[in-house]
Parts: sequence; C-alpha cells; structure tokens
Amino acid sequence: MLGAIVGDIVGSQFEWKEKQIYDFPLFTGACHYTDDSLMTLAIGEAFMLRRGRWREDDFQAFVIERMVKMGREHQASSWGERFYQWFMKSPVPYNSCGNGAAMRVSSVGWVSESEEDVRYFSKLVTEVSHNHPEGIKGAESVAMAIYLARIGTPMEEIRQRMIEYYPEILSMRVKSIKREYGIDQGGRFITCQGSVPQAIVCFLESHSFEDAVRLAISLGGDTDTQGAITGSIAEAYYGVPYDIEDQAISYLTPKLESIYYAFSTVKQPRKKR
Ligand SMILES: [Mg+2]
Repeated sequence: MLGAIVGDIVGSQFEWKEKQIYDFPLFTGACHYTDDSLMTLAIGEAFMLRRGRWREDDFQAFVIERMVKMGREHQASSWGERFYQWFMKSPVPYNSCGNGAAMRVSSVGWVSESEEDVRYFSKLVTEVSHNHPEGIKGAESVAMAIYLARIGTPMEEIRQRMIEYYPEILSMRVKSIKREYGIDQGGRFITCQGSVPQAIVCFLESHSFEDAVRLAISLGGDTDTQGAITGSIAEAYYGVPYDIEDQAISYLTPKLESIYYAFSTVKQPRKKR
C-alpha cells in the first residue's frame, strides 16, 4: 500500500508530460496524491474496518461503499471519466480493463494468507468495476507479486510466476519498453494488458525500492499509475526507506494519513531479506 502511494505521489509530477527521465527529485512542489492513492486507501480501509470478516456475503458491497465515499469526497482529483461516473452515479461493473484495477489492489497482497486468498480477494475488489478478464488478471497478477514478495519468494521465482500471467515478460526489458512507451492516443498504455507487464518488468529489473519507482516513472505516459503499480510490488520485496515514507505521507491529508496508519493493524508481516 505504501509503495503505491509513494509511486503515485512521485509519479504525479510527470503525468502525461512526454518525458522519460530517471534522475529527478522524488518529492517536489508539483507532487500530489491522485486517484491511485485514494482508491488504494479506500480498499485498504474496507479491509481494516471489516477485519477478519472478509468472506461474509456483504463484504463486496462494503468495499463499493468505501470506494464511492472516497471518490465523492475527492471529486476534484484526477479521475478517469468512466470511473468518475461509476462513483458519482452508478457503481456497477462496466467491463473495464483499465490499469485502475492494478493500481488500487495492493492491500490484497498484504491481507492474504494464501494464494487462494489472493485470487479470491483480488477478484472481489476488482470485479465491482473492472470486470473485464484483463482487468481481473491485471489486479490478480499485481496482488500475487506483492504476496509472493512479502513472504520472501526469490526474485527469479516471482519472475517465473509473472510469466505465467504475461508470457511477453520473458522478452521485455525496460530499455525496449521505453522505445515505444509514453503517450498513446489509442489508450493502450492505460489498460492492464498495456501497462501491468511493463510495471512488473520495472520491478524485476530493479535493485532497490527507489530504483524500481524511478524505472517505472521513466517509462513516461501514465507515470503516477506506473509508479503506483511497480512501487506496490517493490515495497513488498525491498521495504520502503523511512525517509521516503515520511515524505510521501506528508502529502496526504490528516484523514488519509489516519487510514494509512490504521491499515497496518490488519497487515500480514513482511519477511525481511
Ligand atoms: Mg492517477
């Protein structure tokens, strides 16, 4: 969850700016939280408030309620048009395969105690809006990477598991992704299938949490969401340095900050490397 918030806030300063840079100040006056942090926190809050009662029949309705509430309280934030309609008018699934499915799912990797949990909870929180098969797959793959990283799975094994979701990862490198990535009128880079494998590759090529976030943001385009997805996986693998945590949290409102800290009470521990 923290990694998603960091990636979102750091990436927000470059969203759709047509830049592909790696060396930049992480936190500046142009940084702010966006929809990625907000929906990450909304889903985390649902798990926190319903601690241990996540398999009850009404839990999915409760997740929707928290997401709708969060959206309506932050209408001025940067929302995709269809998702804005979802929380303002009608919170029913709209067959989306947008990368919103993957940027908001990280808490699933932290509350799950088995791979079966990951599959069950990632579908539960995703199909409320992003019920397209690619949306479900994008969310599950990211939550699974987080779960596997959190329990101490070696990088090479995580890579193999991610190749099962996205065989194209086998031949993808950050360098080659950058050649064709960025702003795309067709919207390919804001789908799960057009951005999740790329975000995973940034994690797989990284050497630290900060390196992972920088690599993801250096792809350009939807930088806050790329940063959020890669950051959420990198957090589970490397942990987040305290100074980066403190700086990111300082961008949140007191209310959002309290949700962030409260979520830690339902988190499963991370195996240190
Ligand atoms: Mg965003």
